[in-house]
Amino acid sequence: MIAISGYSARDTPIPASAGESEAFDPASGGVIEAMRPLMGSEFVVRVWAAPGREPAAAEAINQVLDGVADLEEQISGWKANSDTARVSGSAGGAAVSVGADLRELLAISERWARRMGGAFDVTAGPLFELWRTGRSQGVLPSDEGVREVLERIGYEKVELHGDAVRLLVPGMKLDFGSIGKGFAADRAAMQLRGAGFSNFIVDAGGDLVVSGRRGNAPWNLGIRHPRSSQLLATARFTDCAVATSGDYEQYLIVDGKRYGHIIDPRTGWPARGVSSVVAIARTGADADALATGLFVLGPEAGLDLVEKMSSVEALFTLEGGEVRHSKGLSLNAGVLERLE
Ligand code: ADP
Ligand code: MG
Repeated sequence: MIAISGYSARDTPIPASAGESEAFDPASGGVIEAMRPLMGSEFVVRVWAAPGREPAAAEAINQVLDGVADLEEQISGWKANSDTARVSGSAGGAAVSVGADLRELLAISERWARRMGGAFDVTAGPLFELWRTGRSQGVLPSDEGVREVLERIGYEKVELHGDAVRLLVPGMKLDFGSIGKGFAADRAAMQLRGAGFSNFIVDAGGDLVVSGRRGNAPWNLGIRHPRSSQLLATARFTDCAVATSGDYEQYLIVDGKRYGHIIDPRTGWPARGVSSVVAIARTGADADALATGLFVLGPEAGLDLVEKMSSVEALFTLEGGEVRHSKGLSLNAGVLERLE
């Protein structure tokens, strides 16, 4: 699906702000965009194309989306022949040769796992699965069930030998649900730059990589509210990545208590206290990993970590509605700004 228009009504990624329109002025270029369902969500790529470059932009966007589909075949644990599924299938056994994508994804994931003391951990697949089953059946996992699964997770239980990966304990399983979309958005951005485009948004199911401008104005970003279809804020950032993690989509309520889909791998139980995190970083993979990991760390430890890193910002909405954010951000009347 390729739409050519001078103004994209979907500039605000989620939810689309309806109805705004401007006449298309062919002399000034325009936004070319396409959407494809990938990695369990909607990928939207929007490119600002100079006059005459529209067909090239449309072609580049198609190739980028094909590239994400290829990447998904390599890294999605849901695809039976993916590198990820083969590595998990051989857990406790022999090392498995994998492509550069999975090795890079594992390296980035391990870095965040260490920085966050295990609050972020892509080896916690069996734990996420246990809770996924619990949510679908409407029952909490048992303490014993959680304890048993905790023995089979841990980022330190992964070995890399050359191009081969080995999970040390039988029953281990990788899950890139927290970082795969951001990583794919980085790949898409790289490919767009390679094709000569530097003004674009890659929206990987709400995880954004933003580059350059929309013509003579900054891109306008919409950041969704944790528990409503309203926007939490709008922002006009550029040349960065913005990711959100929240408990708005998948959760289980038992005895009035809410159990979300972001799980603390250190305890085996869903993270509590936070309802959403917006993370800003240089790359999509970093922002995506951060949003998930910060959700687990909570505002105190989370903001401590964020303030120690350059080019990283975060905003927490707590369960009671309180908003807390890093020093490099300001939020006024629904507009989120970066203080340079
Ligand atoms: P979204 O569901 O919007 O993509 P996230 O990026 O936060 O949100 O990813 C959530 C997914 O990440 C979960 O469904 C699960 O597969 C995985 N996950 C949950 N908790 C963690 C964690 N502590 N560390 C790494 N991955 C996690
Ligand atoms: Mg994430």
